Amino acid sequence: MAPGNAGTSLVAENVSIAVDDFEKLGACCIENKIELVVVGPEVPLVKGIRDYFEATPKLSSILMVGPGKAGAQLEGSKDFSKQFMIRHGVPTAKARTFHAHQSEEAAAYLETCKPPLVLKADGLAAGKGVIITNNLQEAKSTVREMLEEKKFGDASSKVLIEEFLDGIELSVFVLTDGESYVILPEAKDYKRIGDGDTGPNTGGMGSVSPVSFADATFMGKVEHQIVTPTIEGLKKDGIPFKGFIFVGLMNVKGEPFVIEYNTRMGDPETQSVMARIQSDFLELLLAAAKGNLRDRKIQIDPDFALTIVMAAGGYPEKYDKGRVISGLAKASSAFIFHAGTKTQNGEVVTDGGRVLGVTGRGKKLQDAQKNAYSTANDIQWEGVYFRRDIGNDVLNLMK
Ligand code: AMP
Repeated sequence: MAPGNAGTSLVAENVSIAVDDFEKLGACCIENKIELVVVGPEVPLVKGIRDYFEATPKLSSILMVGPGKAGAQLEGSKDFSKQFMIRHGVPTAKARTFHAHQSEEAAAYLETCKPPLVLKADGLAAGKGVIITNNLQEAKSTVREMLEEKKFGDASSKVLIEEFLDGIELSVFVLTDGESYVILPEAKDYKRIGDGDTGPNTGGMGSVSPVSFADATFMGKVEHQIVTPTIEGLKKDGIPFKGFIFVGLMNVKGEPFVIEYNTRMGDPETQSVMARIQSDFLELLLAAAKGNLRDRKIQIDPDFALTIVMAAGGYPEKYDKGRVISGLAKASSAFIFHAGTKTQNGEVVTDGGRVLGVTGRGKKLQDAQKNAYSTANDIQWEGVYFRRDIGNDVLNLMK
């Protein structure tokens, strides 16, 4: 596990190698006779870890879950993915792309758009590259900052101005070998820091799976209008793809529209998704990496999973690290996934903004919620923060 955290050290050996140090990762794989590499984050995918392994004779036979640089563009460039969706008939918000020298055109175009106005940096911006505002002046000055002053560095050398989609969000996960695919459980996440979806956006403060409105009819539309054309589109474009496609979509009055693709699993949805997979997941990963996914089925637990993200006080703004976490051993009603943690002098301490994901399960969503919260309430550190309303909106929808 590179680099890993206090949680992964319980189930694997952590190695202190940066996720984009391909040379060291390759050497580590050879030294430890690694047969399968599962690439977690987006940065190494976009930088071409698969291309590096494939081009290096000693590494080329190592199996990998994760697309090459070309496929990772689905996540790495919003302009690329928008053009891809248009080319292959995947429903998505209408958008126009503006380049660095076109900030005046972009500002003029904004005047013709109906608010809310959606601005997106083209490249990777660690989840911060999307700005949504009702204020035309703010949108105009932001688009200038993005294009002229490179507010997000190279990531904003192109900016998309997109139609606003009004609906409920859903995340759908697909594991593919580029020919066949399996659809993993769907999930809904909670992006805002505060209860009732208030305050600034975060990397995600919780998730639930399954999601009531993702019934057979809706998921049928997702498969036929989004998943199949995406896989077929990759084939038509000559882009091999062995890895995950995470479709972030909006349910607009019962119709799915793609907001974005990720080319990996992403948290905090993954915690709830994994809790519901009954099949041997390693076998599925191997099949995807070898190109053998055809006829594979995935067994999914019908029970609910609910994940609460426990964060450091102050997140997503400034926060402290190094706070000692207590109560981890006591927790029993839920599974604890570590994120920003490390071991220091024999104690587990906080080492990031989002520290733990606590996943409860149950036959009913209420049970999953109760189990997750009872464990979260037992875990303590100075300044700990988590939302108290994860799952409530889905419970209301179900009523
Ligand atoms: P992204 O990084 O593309 O996932 O965007 C971040 C968040 O912005 C999404 O999860 C949505 O909540 C919101 N968002 C992005 N694009 C749109 C859109 N066209 N309409 C409405 N909300 C959007």
